Amino acid sequence: MTDVIIVGGGLAGLLTGAELKRRGRDVVVLEAADRPGGVARTINDGGYLLEPAAGSLLLPTPELTPIFDAAGVRVVEALDGSKRRYVYDRDRLIEIPDSPAALLAPLVPWRAKLRAAREPWVHTEPGSDDESILDYLSRRFGPGMGRMGGTLMAHGVFGGDPARLSMRGAFPRIVAWEDAAGSLVRGAIAKMRSRPKDEPRVRKTVHVAPDGMAGLADDLARYLGDGFRPGRPVTAVERTADGWSVDGEFTTRSLILALAPRRAAPLLPDDVSEVVDRGVTAPVAVIGIGGRAADVPLPIGFGALIGPDAGLHALGILFESQYAAGRAPAGHHLAKGIYGGAADPGVMERTDDELVALMIEETSRVIGIPVQPTWTRVVRQTPGIPQYEVGHVAWMREIDERLVAHPGLHLAGWGYRGIGVSGLGIDAVRLADAITDEGG
Ligand SMILES: Cc1cc2nc3c(=O)[nH]c(=O)nc-3n(C[C@H](O)[C@H](O)[C@H](O)COP(=O)(O)OP(=O)(O)OC[C@H]3O[C@@H](n4cnc5c(N)ncnc54)[C@H](O)[C@@H]3O)c2cc1C
Repeated sequence: MTDVIIVGGGLAGLLTGAELKRRGRDVVVLEAADRPGGVARTINDGGYLLEPAAGSLLLPTPELTPIFDAAGVRVVEALDGSKRRYVYDRDRLIEIPDSPAALLAPLVPWRAKLRAAREPWVHTEPGSDDESILDYLSRRFGPGMGRMGGTLMAHGVFGGDPARLSMRGAFPRIVAWEDAAGSLVRGAIAKMRSRPKDEPRVRKTVHVAPDGMAGLADDLARYLGDGFRPGRPVTAVERTADGWSVDGEFTTRSLILALAPRRAAPLLPDDVSEVVDRGVTAPVAVIGIGGRAADVPLPIGFGALIGPDAGLHALGILFESQYAAGRAPAGHHLAKGIYGGAADPGVMERTDDELVALMIEETSRVIGIPVQPTWTRVVRQTPGIPQYEVGHVAWMREIDERLVAHPGLHLAGWGYRGIGVSGLGIDAVRLADAITDEGG
């Protein structure tokens, strides 16, 4: 009997497996594909390194850093360029300073800025306990800033629609500030002040994996050793007298399905499956264009988020080679565009050639100079990015309630409690704690 079996060797399964191993547990990760990493499968071609999913992460964190240290995961700080961020809207590329001066950036008219500045003193009753990002930010900061901020947050993180994504589901920590203090700004300040004076201030910075996320996944799999089993698609899990059986071959007290909700549903007991199967995802296309620096003259920076009045299909364009070393051959640049999602599903009907042409046209508009790439690549992510729509919090609660009847069974992955790698790290620790508590 294995202590813990994890089905799915994407970043969620690998991080949870590594955290359990770090705590001395006997853990096996069963992965259907012949390599670890799931959607985060780096493309390494002709000197270009394209990340079709996670491409960077903020470190240190109290959850990820100990896992990375134990597993010997190679990550390095991003180049200084990562500190320069832009928004493209109404035909302008606007740099957003990495300081409170960001509030002065010309993203919205002055009237909207003045309304937003009143947030700490505005008393507003939520329309419901689970508001959309657009409703929530408009209520707190006014409609102008709400529309701008909501679009950037929804497009930038979820490829989602700000009118459909749940603020409480997608950004729970921000909502907690208002819950605690009646205002986001006052809540954030109170949180900062609650930090003990002698505790050093840890500043998180953007980090990248030198061999891409595929290299990071390889490092985690190597740490798991024999515990990582590629080429092992799981087809059935069953309850036994003292735990769970997997494909009739493995038995365990604690079973974690680290799969996209739609992939987990067929393996789950019926009462959990019918709820999990309602998880919403949206396909996205990730488009890379590279070429000589003179032909793809990207500004120094992390990239540009696209505002609501830009008139572009792109949700964001990242200046990959300008913030991460080794993403393009010497003297060359690489840009990465994100298209589609719940924000713009229609664009996914275009062919790969049409998408590349669109990316070239829109990158040229964003940087104000025509780009002429010699290297292009389109990766379609299907089923795509989970959408934490209004109702997500209630959906999660319902899943947790149903899981109570199935001791030892757990769910992990970006479909549930956090869309990015930091969220997966937090969840890995939560799961390791839960398994320890249940004596599994
Ligand atoms: C375009 C894009 C950009 C992103 N950018 C960032 C970023 O910059 N920073 C960040 O932190 N995050 C980012 N993310 C999110 C990040 O990539 C995800 O959070 C993470 O990769 C999800 O990992 P997962 O393990 O939850 O899911 P998956 O990667 O989907 O892993 C699930 C695994 O389960 C396996 N599997 C499926 N069925 C079975 C079965 N029956 N038996 C065994 N195995 C099975 C699959 O093969 C897969 O390997 C981005 C995502 C996208 C799409």
